[in-house]
Amino acid sequence: MARLAIATRNSHKVDEIWAILEPLLPHLHREDVASALDLDAPSPVEDGVTFEANALIKARALAASTGVPALADDSGIAVDVLGGSPGIFSARWAGSHGDDAANLRLLLDQLADVPDEHRGAAFVCAAALVTPDGREYVEVGRMPGELAREPRGDGGFGYDPIFVAEGQSVTNAELDADAKNAISHRGAAFRAMAPHVVAVLG
Ligand code: IMP
Repeated sequence: MARLAIATRNSHKVDEIWAILEPLLPHLHREDVASALDLDAPSPVEDGVTFEANALIKARALAASTGVPALADDSGIAVDVLGGSPGIFSARWAGSHGDDAANLRLLLDQLADVPDEHRGAAFVCAAALVTPDGREYVEVGRMPGELAREPRGDGGFGYDPIFVAEGQSVTNAELDADAKNAISHRGAAFRAMAPHVVAVLG
């Protein structure tokens, strides 16, 4: 029986979240953690208009359907010259949900004529923890940086090949997993969440 459920069907994200939490939660073991996919949990409609609202929707639904504390995140990329878009629409910017290659290509094409000094963007992640008895926690992390002109690197996912984080000379897709987690929006949000997970699991 899982002690903690993670509201994602993306195994890459479960691995990333577990890698962030593991060193902070010595009493929690990998087998105590199950994903929405492992648990065959229904997917709620994500009709919030902020990262925080959507993370809470996912965590509430999973806590209710599993009866164990549930963690969720909602994340995306906010581009300065697009007024913060794609934002909550990051996963379906080119139309169909989760088509990372098409999303990345559309964003690059939209910014083709934007000069280097105006290519600022940030990854944003809201993490939510909800318990079956109704306790709720939300933490937000950001990773500022800028958009490259062409994809580089094979690591990561989504917009990683065109994002160069502040202080880096390579894209997120050229960083190894530990280096990305150390500076990422998801790393910041889940590290801030870790003490709440400890408190909730007792
Ligand atoms: P979510 O799974 O609903 O949170 O959607 C997140 C979407 O934002 C993904 O499909 C990616 O397109 C993008 N995204 C979020 N975090 C990252 C990241 O760490 N690297 C690259 N793309 C990301």
